[in-house]
Amino acid sequence: MDLLYRSTRDSSVQVTASQAILKGLSADGGLFVPNEVPALDVSLDELAKMSYQETAYAVMSRFLTDFTEEELKGCIEKAYDEKFDTPEIAPLVKADGAYFLELFHGATIAFKDMALSILPHLMTVSARKNQVKNEIVILTATSGDTGKAALAGFADVPGTRIVVFYPKNGVSPIQEKQMVTQKGSNVKVIGIHGNFDDAQSGVKTLFGDGELEKEMASAGFQFSSANSINIGRLVPQIVYYVYAYAKLYANGEIEKDEKINIVVPTGNFGNILAAYYAKQMGLPVAKLICASNENKVLFDFFQTGSYNRNREFILTSSPSMDILISSNLERLIYQIADCDDKADAALMKALSEKGEYEITSVMREKLRDFYGNFATEQETAAAIRDLYEKTGYVIDPHTAVAACVCRKYKADTADAAKTLIASTASPYKFTHSVMEAIGAACEGKDDFALADELSKLSSTEIPKAVEEIRTAPVLHDTVVEVPQMKEAVKKFLGM
Ligand SMILES: *Cc1c(COP(=O)(O)O)cnc(C)c1O
Repeated sequence: MDLLYRSTRDSSVQVTASQAILKGLSADGGLFVPNEVPALDVSLDELAKMSYQETAYAVMSRFLTDFTEEELKGCIEKAYDEKFDTPEIAPLVKADGAYFLELFHGATIAFKDMALSILPHLMTVSARKNQVKNEIVILTATSGDTGKAALAGFADVPGTRIVVFYPKNGVSPIQEKQMVTQKGSNVKVIGIHGNFDDAQSGVKTLFGDGELEKEMASAGFQFSSANSINIGRLVPQIVYYVYAYAKLYANGEIEKDEKINIVVPTGNFGNILAAYYAKQMGLPVAKLICASNENKVLFDFFQTGSYNRNREFILTSSPSMDILISSNLERLIYQIADCDDKADAALMKALSEKGEYEITSVMREKLRDFYGNFATEQETAAAIRDLYEKTGYVIDPHTAVAACVCRKYKADTADAAKTLIASTASPYKFTHSVMEAIGAACEGKDDFALADELSKLSSTEIPKAVEEIRTAPVLHDTVVEVPQMKEAVKKFLGM
């Protein structure tokens, strides 16, 4: 029997894994959740001997049960190859008593590569399995990181095209350069005059345009989304927690079945939810520590049981966590509401209409696995500097938020359990903030000059992803007004 996925807002909607991957979101606006979290029925001693790819198969095959062994192994092989600059894919680094799980060795040096390297392959297999004949067209609006990771993942994947919209003056110079130099015969990058929200709502309008859908279908195309709520992104993220635990055990850092804590720098709540699923599969995890920056909606939520997005949006040095609506939290809400779809739908309605909701005390009880805290901008910079001065190891601002919250947790609780910290971006992606935190003179220097200095100071090599764009030619220079987004997509598709 296949494991089915149902909508958090209507439990009667039940689809297979491949259908959930193709749809992304349920038509009722709900997120797909597995009917039950499968058990990790592989022994730790077996896991300890496995490569990343073998671990990926052991974990993902439990979730994506309608994929054949050959199909899933094919996806894994294509995803986790030399695109990563280390054969371990997700190496562990021990520093200052914690284990940093480096999730930034892929094509765009941020953790989104871990899932976006495999999503395109899961999607084309899903299309084939469900007799979809159309070419899949991925539409994405990006504030910087997701766009490039999606482009890198989908570039030259047969049967797919990808169009990324970004705010022309709303991303960092490095982020823009990364996107406009993207190679691939099936990719298109388009700047818009407007901010990220304009790009995002423009894309939503295209997704909901029935006329366009019909025109596309007759031309042999259909839209899909690479958004982080797709289970095709969530499931691959469970893998590295299992892999890291098994490696800690294999390396003699922990005893068999010793419980560890996991700290995750959080924005949309996808990465930490994957850790929670790993725990539910049976991985010996004690606390899931949710680290926020100054946009601390989640900290307040864990403190009070009230989720409230009505507040000022703060731009921080950890921009990928500047989020006031953590979409993936809905999956946790559904679960702690005892899978009551009506209750979940009512809370989400309150969120969209009033910008807030409050959970019951019974639901709060079920959040005991989680601990939330946050780091201010000053504390984030101090965490980078302190760790560097103590150990020579350099971390990026997102990871620094986690390192700071880890310290706060230990001070709060005196819990001595060993801790895994999800390290979500390379310091080379945020060179300016990192060098400034360390105390280097940054004025008048561009990001490439700072990367050279960072390389000397940390004795690490400049990643290929940064080296490549130094001299790469600009391949995309289209900029449009928001009302022209539809025409731009049609033009790219030759319609
Ligand atoms: C996306 C991102 C995060 C946040 O992850 P979520 O799954 O959205 O919680 C943290 N750090 C970096 C570098 C990211 O790109």
